[in-house]
Amino acid sequence: MLLPEETPSTETPLPKKGMRQTEQRKAVFEALMAKADHPSAVEVFMRVKSRMPSISLATVYNCLETLTATGLVRTVNHEREPSRYCANLQEHAHLFCSECGSITDIPLHTPMPPEQIWNLPPGIAIAQQEVFFRGLCAKCVQSDQNALSSRATQPVSR
Ligand SMILES: [Zn+2]
Ligand SMILES: [Zn+2]
Repeated sequence: MLLPEETPSTETPLPKKGMRQTEQRKAVFEALMAKADHPSAVEVFMRVKSRMPSISLATVYNCLETLTATGLVRTVNHEREPSRYCANLQEHAHLFCSECGSITDIPLHTPMPPEQIWNLPPGIAIAQQEVFFRGLCAKCVQSDQNALSSRATQPVSR
């Protein structure tokens, strides 16, 4: 049975998932919530280390594993690159920018179960949906356009 929850704002949702909230887990989760840029474990480590200098990379890996197991954090895997982490729990797809390697969240207009989005073959069972797009992030589209227009306005020599 679920009891009404009264969670102070400094708490993470970890206790709700039956996980003991340690300072390390909290710091790792907060680092992921602070900037939704899908950092790798090493990047999370650097961010957490700046405010918790005693933390080790191994601890960060452990925390990320725990957070992933509780479903509070998703791993995002792109080709052979190291896993990256996403704390956005809304159903969303990921856009991999082929120019700068960034990952952008793409939300659905209206969250819907997979069978309403896809024409699912009969008899299959979906456990999880992961949708990936490949393209350019807004920043790279912008800088491509800038490069194009500066080229167009440049005086042609000879
Ligand atoms: Zn994401
Ligand atoms: Zn980009």
